[in-house]
Amino acid sequence: MEFVRLGKTGEKLPVLGMGTWNLGADRSAGVLILKEGIRRGMAFIDTAEMYGNEEIVGEAIRGEEKAFIATKVSPQHFSYEGVLRACEGSLKKLRVRQIDLYQLHWPNKRIAIQETMGAMERLADEGKIRHIGVSNFSLMDLKEAQEAMRRYEIVSNQVEYSILSRMPEEALSNYCMAQGITMIAYSPLGQGALYSEKNEGFLSVLADIGERYGKSASQVALNWLISKGNVSAIPKTENPEHLTENLGSIGWRLSEADIKRLDLLR
Ligand code: NAP
Repeated sequence: MEFVRLGKTGEKLPVLGMGTWNLGADRSAGVLILKEGIRRGMAFIDTAEMYGNEEIVGEAIRGEEKAFIATKVSPQHFSYEGVLRACEGSLKKLRVRQIDLYQLHWPNKRIAIQETMGAMERLADEGKIRHIGVSNFSLMDLKEAQEAMRRYEIVSNQVEYSILSRMPEEALSNYCMAQGITMIAYSPLGQGALYSEKNEGFLSVLADIGERYGKSASQVALNWLISKGNVSAIPKTENPEHLTENLGSIGWRLSEADIKRLDLLR
């Protein structure tokens, strides 16, 4: 596995983690694929109270010392007491004493960010969470959330980022890079849309580049994200063949010229 630095901490996060949204319709298959991913180095698992599958993740990580668990508190629970309660719920479902990365799922303008971040700091003080992250935060939201904290720094912002979805580029990604904030790229394969007819243009460029490396379009798309240097991508799969394919996106590097070509692909 390759790693990216988690925020300004000395900790290393796998550049390839496992997403779990929609995972678990078949519970035992969900547990099995997560266990297999952990065994092969994708020990970073992303879930959320909203996904309704923290218990499945909890079952998959039992006895797995290397697992790094990220979960998220839902915006409707952003009051001080709400965050504390949601965290207790996640700890119970995951059956862990501590959550590695606790993230605010989306901004919630109806609750003062100071109140929410105060609760996050308390959870960190109490050792219930190890790191504080956010998700779907704009540059302004991110700055406000950081300013609302006194004792901790935000280590990550989880945002939609893929060859198809470039919203985080420029302002947000430059800021994260400068501030040592890790970007966690969700829907890195466009939720599967990468393979749809309407994205044939993207797919053919990815496949064309991949041919020279002996890599598939998905592997090129993931490698391009990882090449950014402060990004960890979290594709979701329940298919063992896709898991193997996604793992093949690391251990090699696209050339600068190919990265540039993909940067300009719109
Ligand atoms: P994604 O990972 O971009 O795409 C998942 C889809 O791609 C699934 O249908 C999967 O099907 C398929 N797939 C995976 N690997 C493939 C491969 N090598 N070749 C072909 N198809 C492949 O989309 P996502 O699930 O939306 O995003 C990943 C994770 O990000 C989520 O699971 C969740 O943890 C997180 N997320 C966070 C937010 C947020 O608001 N913070 C929002 C959305 C997602 P198979 O299962 O059949 O392989």
